[in-house]
Amino acid sequence: MTIELKDLSYGYTQRRVLEGLSVRFERGGMYAVMGANGCGKTTLLRLVAGLLTPERGEVLLDGQSVGSYTARELAQRMAFVRQYPQTDFEFSAFETVLMGRNPYQRRLQNESQEDWDIVERCMKQTNTWHLRFAKPNQMSGGELQRVMLARALAQETPVMLLDEPVSNLDIAHQFEILELLRTINREEHKTILIVIHDLNMALRYCPQLVLLHKGGIHYHGTTEQGLSPENIRTVFNIHAEPVMADGEPTLLRLRPLEL
Ligand code: ADP
Repeated sequence: MTIELKDLSYGYTQRRVLEGLSVRFERGGMYAVMGANGCGKTTLLRLVAGLLTPERGEVLLDGQSVGSYTARELAQRMAFVRQYPQTDFEFSAFETVLMGRNPYQRRLQNESQEDWDIVERCMKQTNTWHLRFAKPNQMSGGELQRVMLARALAQETPVMLLDEPVSNLDIAHQFEILELLRTINREEHKTILIVIHDLNMALRYCPQLVLLHKGGIHYHGTTEQGLSPENIRTVFNIHAEPVMADGEPTLLRLRPLEL
């Protein structure tokens, strides 16, 4: 599914956040959405998900305005993993992931064996199957984050919007989840937008980059070119030095400007 933002503006009561922003996310792309704290990354994802209505401009999914889809149609097309998981403390991890199947269930109909199988597969993929009986208050932040990712996978959508899906995870689980997302992206051609702060993880896992700055798109293109020392200095006020291996920039050595 392609996602097109056209001349999009949005502001909260106090402050305008996005101003005349236009960008296109191609089907099957895996995009890092990056920028300094408060630059509007979450706002952009919420606009794409149809959770916020733009003040000006529009969001098109395969050429059709997000606002013209029903909630159920949107839930069959886009899964959104929030930065701070919102869960109901009544439900176990298994039941939480099973909720990902809601967009496919008919009124008064129970889940099918297929739904249960999908939940099991997604929990095993995210390494959360052993947590299936746990309630949210019995899990760590990272475990809960993986459960929410399992729920998003169970939704089986062509688009995944992930707001800092690896921020709460230890380094091993960050690699595990990003490897999983890359595999899913390659094998199922899902369009994946990931808000991510770690420049090196973005370089390694996300071929495409959308860099936000001052209410607009500072850069849109390959991550390798976009995470240039100049862009990193402008957007994050940080000095970056590419480390080459086999003739490719594979890592960025970072330090504050004044050092
Ligand atoms: P990011 O995800 O890049 O950190 P956000 O999209 O969350 O940025 O926020 C962009 C700006 O909008 C910030 O200045 C933030 O304080 C403000 N903001 C976010 N949500 C709200 C809200 N519900 N009400 C008012 N201001 C908000």
